[in-house]
Amino acid sequence: MFEGKNGMRNKINEIGDDHIGTSAKTPLRDDAFEISDQEKIDRIQESVKEILETLGMDLEDDSLKGTPRRVAKAYVNELFVGLHPDKKPKLSTFDNNYKYGEMLVEKNITIYSTCEHHLLPIVGRAHVAYISNGNVIGLSKINRIVEYYAKRPQVQERLTMQVVQALQEALGINDVACVIDAKHLCVNSRGVRDIESSTVTSEFGGKFKEKDTKREFLDYIKMDTDFE
Ligand SMILES: [Zn+2]
Repeated sequence: MFEGKNGMRNKINEIGDDHIGTSAKTPLRDDAFEISDQEKIDRIQESVKEILETLGMDLEDDSLKGTPRRVAKAYVNELFVGLHPDKKPKLSTFDNNYKYGEMLVEKNITIYSTCEHHLLPIVGRAHVAYISNGNVIGLSKINRIVEYYAKRPQVQERLTMQVVQALQEALGINDVACVIDAKHLCVNSRGVRDIESSTVTSEFGGKFKEKDTKREFLDYIKMDTDFE
């Protein structure tokens, strides 16, 4: 099908507003890490400056002077730090010598991510579970792996799959599941401006595809955990 420039632009708009993820792999170029973080910060600083100047902002103003640098540093060192493979947490496992063979659920993991279609925040919670086959992983590693993949330009569906795949790989099992419930500021603050809506995505591997196991996991998530 022939697609003119407008056709392509319409297609981009469609994907953007529908938040269709295209692959479980973050679309990074091969040369993504050929320049240093420092160089990225310098270049992004210039780009942010240009955006603000285009908008007509006065960058001589004391309040705005440091903004391009601050944004650039936040992008490279914080919001998108999970793009760098060196930052991936080491997911070492250890022997489950207490023979725990039931489901382990780590729930209410806070997510701060960024929608790659609008570069606006995604805020929510992840719930992750696995069934040990003899290996276990430190609980905080589950939070760390969620955080690592969240700190990228993201699509919620992809984030859900990446968390499951990383844990499947580390534990050498298929029986891993993840549910994410999140608000997208691009939906809540612009476009349809629906403040109440949130998006739920799920990925069920191995035994979690079975009805009873899935039910058990979802029941644990619903448990009210309030220690205050
Ligand atoms: Zn968006």
